[in-house]
Amino acid sequence: MTHPTSRADETRTAWKAVLEKYHEDRETPLNENYWSEKDTWSRDWIRAVQDEKIAAVAPFLYENSDFYRRRFDRLGVAPTDLRDVDSMIANWPVVTKQEMMEDAEAHPPYGTYTTCGEAEWADRGWMLFSSSGSTGTPRVFRYTHFDRQYWEQANARALYSGGLRKGDSGLPMVGFGPHVFAWGVQYTLAKMGLPVVPGGGMDGQARAAMIERFNPTTLICTPSYLLYLGRVMQDMGKDPAKTSVKWLVTGGEPFSGVSGTLERIQDLWGAKSLEFYGCTEASPHCGGYSCPEYQEGDEPFIHLMEDIQVWETVDPNGLNPVAEGERGLTVCTNLNSESSAQLRFLVGDYTRLSHEPCACGRSHVRGMGCLTGRSDDLINLRGIKFFPVQIEEAVRAYPGTGDEFQIRLTTKDDGLDVMTVVVEHPDQGKSDEIAKAIRSHCEIRCAVEVVAPDTLPKTEMKAKRVFDERNK
Ligand SMILES: [Zn+2]
Repeated sequence: MTHPTSRADETRTAWKAVLEKYHEDRETPLNENYWSEKDTWSRDWIRAVQDEKIAAVAPFLYENSDFYRRRFDRLGVAPTDLRDVDSMIANWPVVTKQEMMEDAEAHPPYGTYTTCGEAEWADRGWMLFSSSGSTGTPRVFRYTHFDRQYWEQANARALYSGGLRKGDSGLPMVGFGPHVFAWGVQYTLAKMGLPVVPGGGMDGQARAAMIERFNPTTLICTPSYLLYLGRVMQDMGKDPAKTSVKWLVTGGEPFSGVSGTLERIQDLWGAKSLEFYGCTEASPHCGGYSCPEYQEGDEPFIHLMEDIQVWETVDPNGLNPVAEGERGLTVCTNLNSESSAQLRFLVGDYTRLSHEPCACGRSHVRGMGCLTGRSDDLINLRGIKFFPVQIEEAVRAYPGTGDEFQIRLTTKDDGLDVMTVVVEHPDQGKSDEIAKAIRSHCEIRCAVEVVAPDTLPKTEMKAKRVFDERNK
């Protein structure tokens, strides 16, 4: 919500001036390797730019967002106390999804945590995006055309890093709902001058036929859908690895950090994965992306863009910063939007940050081990905590397993909570052996039910593999 005061306008103008100072409007890449010189900025310069942006964004948020103003006042912190990265981390506690959700419930339909009010929406509104709402009230975010330009450049850096060049073309296979990922890629392909064949609103067989007829080089969808579509093509007697597809641009689900899944999908398509990592709250763009130097078998990681966002990791209990190289939950400060600048927002995926130089020359921090476990997905079974992706890795590692699996959590008559993992395998007699494999991989005891291959429903878009039917 905007306050119709001169301070609101003044601070917005000052914030946008800083954004514009570092904005490039590229339609062609800097050179063979990088879309922008920002990818290789020195660490000192990256920090100086972050500091300058924080000093401008804090007063802007105070004057233009009721959510932020209330929080500053409640904490007894002045916007001028947030002068740079260090003073922000010292003075500004991490913002959680819960806080945003409460604000969204108290101030429907938009909440007050964004800085795109009615005036900006009417003047230069671009698109509305929404969190999935799977864990509570959906939080919505309105972005402007001003933001769109920043979004396109950030995503172009990601797509170019992943390998997309002139001559490539995209086939987005998504529902085009209010989710940032596919829209971000769509607009960015246009900015980069790469053609698009729209692939929405049709089934797998129709999309398989489109791939064969129009020869796109780049598929844009969730990882689950890549697996699904590849199997559909095989059922049609076709080999996905023999198609025109070279790049697999994915978002929306953990992927490249799940060992077994990345290889399975890359091998199926004979193509290279390019993963977008990010969140709806701190858009308008991905925050992280795949590295051109990454080879199968290396520890997975993604590059983050620090000139436009500050990335930190915190411990899950106190939400205090952890030392570099230690595992923690991701926290993002978004310094690249007039609509949804955010200070220390808890994105909540586990990773380790590394400033070690990368072979590709990009100087920005990396998320190591990839970001494969959003803390919201954590399963707590009798006090043992684990992520569904840990089960996924164990299932993928067992020879002969099908693509699908399910995790079913139930309560027995005696009140004990138990887990059954349903696995596809041609040999029904393997259940004990697979249970043992899961136990040795995850240190979790479970029962395994083996079903024949291709009997579990195929996941099309976002995978739903956990069914929690425990008594609460
Ligand atoms: Zn790299």
